[in-house]
Amino acid sequence: MLKLAVIPGAICGGCDVALASVGEKLLDVLKYYEIVYWPIAIDRKLSDLEAVEEIDALIYMGGVSTSEEYELARKLSSKSRVKVALGTCSVYGGIPGLNSLSSPLEVYKVNMGKSDHWIQGDSLGLPQLIPYMAYTDVVEPDILAPGCPPSGKVLDQLLEQLIEYAVKGEIEHKPILLGDPESLCNKCPRNPKTTKIKMPGIYRLHEVELDDKKCFLEQGILCMGPATRNICDHSCIKTNYPCTGCGGPLEWGGDSGVSMISSIGSILLVDSEKSLLEPGLTREIDKLRDYIGTFYRYTLRKSMLYKLRELKKGGLK
Ligand code: SF4
Ligand code: SF4
Ligand code: SF4
Repeated sequence: MLKLAVIPGAICGGCDVALASVGEKLLDVLKYYEIVYWPIAIDRKLSDLEAVEEIDALIYMGGVSTSEEYELARKLSSKSRVKVALGTCSVYGGIPGLNSLSSPLEVYKVNMGKSDHWIQGDSLGLPQLIPYMAYTDVVEPDILAPGCPPSGKVLDQLLEQLIEYAVKGEIEHKPILLGDPESLCNKCPRNPKTTKIKMPGIYRLHEVELDDKKCFLEQGILCMGPATRNICDHSCIKTNYPCTGCGGPLEWGGDSGVSMISSIGSILLVDSEKSLLEPGLTREIDKLRDYIGTFYRYTLRKSMLYKLRELKKGGLK
């Protein structure tokens, strides 16, 4: 039997629950693998895992936010043949990646400043806070499984890949980015397909009476579909909520924020841009209140914007 370890890093728990909820399909994987560590599912201690000499497949969920998580991610990955980054935090940094614009201490102060209780981590011997990272900042995984949390589609593909590895003994064309290589718009039930999408302005959800059959962008609501890899069954859109981009960019190394800004540039007020001219368009764009939270909610950590900022600070090599 091959050895499979599932490691929770800095997670909210959603990825863990999503993987456990795969249910009976996991039995197919268990024909080939023995689970040597997975705190949500089996009773094994970390010391048991540390005693295992080699791991065949390691699934790492969440990001890395403490010195302890960093050491663990490096140590366990170095003895794993196949490494999987599961979930958008692990692949792109996810929502906690927005912390990357501040130091760990600044983030801590914002949260703990509201409390009277300041924890003196040093004196208690607690793990030290470090600048937040995605798992992909620590190692180069073989399989990238995005989604916040990953959808059934991505998890099915992951289980197939693990079984294929067990049978063939190798992973081809690494790194494999799961999901389908197309934008979410391609198969969206709201995509008008026959006409070019025009955006009548920029509105917030409470300002519009939504038509649940019409593309969000055509109603002035930002939807990250054009810049997001097809990783789900249009789950949010089917509940009448726009895509916020948890699938990340279409390709590994892409930048969903830049793609989305470019998409908006080609459809926003296209009918009236000649009369509005630059000041009119600027007024409309100024309605956006949170550029980073809108365009890089899940992927800031891997964005060109972040890389440029770090280069300017001399932080990236
Ligand atoms: S990707 Fe989403 S569900 Fe998974 S740990 Fe991060 S925040 Fe939670
Ligand atoms: S922008 Fe959103 S609603 Fe419109 S087609 Fe794309 S995914 Fe669907
Ligand atoms: S619709 Fe967008 S935000 Fe929602 S699950 Fe799919 S990729 Fe993620």
